[in-house]
Amino acid sequence: MTLPFDNSYARLPERFYARQAPVPVRAPAPISVNRALAERLGLDADWLESPEGTAALAGNAVPEGAAPLAQAYAGHQFGGWVPQLGDGRAILLGEVLAPDGLRFDIQLKGAGQTPFSRRGDGRAWLGPVLREYIVSEAMAALGVPTTRALAAVSTGEQILRDGFLRPGAVLARVAASHIRVGTFQYFAARGDAEALGLLVDHVIARHYPAARGPLGLLQAVVAAQARLIAAWMSFGFIHGVMNTDNMAVSGETIDYGPCAFMDGYHPDTVFSSIDQYGRYAYANQPQIAAWNLAQFATCLLPLMGEREAAVAAATEAVHGFAPAFQGAWLRRFGRKIGLSAATKADLPLIESLLGRMATERADFTRTFHGLSTGKARDEFTDPAAFDSWEPAWRARIAGEPAGVMAAANPVRIPRNHRIEQAITAAVEGDFAPFHRLNAALADPFRPDPDFAAFEAAPWPEEAVQRTFCGT
Ligand code: AMP
Ligand code: MG
Repeated sequence: MTLPFDNSYARLPERFYARQAPVPVRAPAPISVNRALAERLGLDADWLESPEGTAALAGNAVPEGAAPLAQAYAGHQFGGWVPQLGDGRAILLGEVLAPDGLRFDIQLKGAGQTPFSRRGDGRAWLGPVLREYIVSEAMAALGVPTTRALAAVSTGEQILRDGFLRPGAVLARVAASHIRVGTFQYFAARGDAEALGLLVDHVIARHYPAARGPLGLLQAVVAAQARLIAAWMSFGFIHGVMNTDNMAVSGETIDYGPCAFMDGYHPDTVFSSIDQYGRYAYANQPQIAAWNLAQFATCLLPLMGEREAAVAAATEAVHGFAPAFQGAWLRRFGRKIGLSAATKADLPLIESLLGRMATERADFTRTFHGLSTGKARDEFTDPAAFDSWEPAWRARIAGEPAGVMAAANPVRIPRNHRIEQAITAAVEGDFAPFHRLNAALADPFRPDPDFAAFEAAPWPEEAVQRTFCGT
């Protein structure tokens, strides 16, 4: 089997990466191959499931045509500058060209140490690998731009995490690219304008062929992030670690560490155990995205000509985030309450519902889905909070086309307690709950009595309040 590799990033100068083969693991065994994604990429799913495919996915054999490397990048982590991060436990095998001509990175996460590992072991344990597999595929099914999970394999090795030995795993991740805001920051911080210019050209060719120059690229990335964050918000998704190295310039969601979907709604919700001050709380996500984009803009300034004019143009482009986000947010939340084309005049109606939901900690997914089934009021401990909102809403949606809400409000999301249950079982060797959860999330807008259990909110004793990076 030969994979259709065409490795454009590996053709960039040597200072963009470190050439590094994956470090073989003891006893690779398949956990899951994403057959639908394999097909979309033009890869042979049967081969991926074979012993040779498993060896390639575990990093024990480098497939022909691959050019394995670890990418260099920097980043702001929780607002603090880190001049060198880089792939410390991920190897980019290369890029494949899908049958439709689109280019995709194939990266092995957990593939061993690289020159960027610092003190880390270069590995990943089963928990975060399954979490990323489940949530990234659920995001794709929800229609949110995201990196994807092509496969997960177990390594037959135990790794030490938080004082415990945990089963090791490798995730094969697919992305439009793994180029981050932090990739630009890496070169900007070194004053390497030549590299920045090459990176701009590379990213434009790859992701935004219509964009003209650094300013055009900035505008395109701002627009893509505005759409992305609005999509997250509309599904109650909290990324949890929106560091600049975890913001892909392609506009895809990347890095599923401590992420979570909210059960009960509150704008201040935070899950990540390391986010002590709520920097990356649900409602902060748009402001943080704009902050990250300002860092991106700063990197591009040296390429934008005369300083004062460059700063003015870049500032204007970054300020474009707020209206673009608000527009995308209004379209999405409008559709969630049944409005095919909400306008600013509808904001009070939407915000009034959200305010009532926050006071009641009403379940985010079930309340919105319940609007079309008449069950939304059941999500309020005090149904009067819903009843006093409902008449104005009914009056407003009269005459709206049917089906608007059903297409905007999923009935199933990857709830934290389900993910934890799937991981706990998998650690015991039972992967059935993991597979069943993936199946339940593959078609998230379609009610399905077979998957009714996945539509339920957690019982108080099941609810998961904290998520861990668990690197
Ligand atoms: P993350 O929190 O996953 O965004 O990772 C932040 C940085 O830490 C990146 O440079 C990662 O490559 C690195 N890193 C995370 N976990 C490990 C590990 N187990 N071994 C080596 N590097 C790691
Ligand atoms: Mg990261």
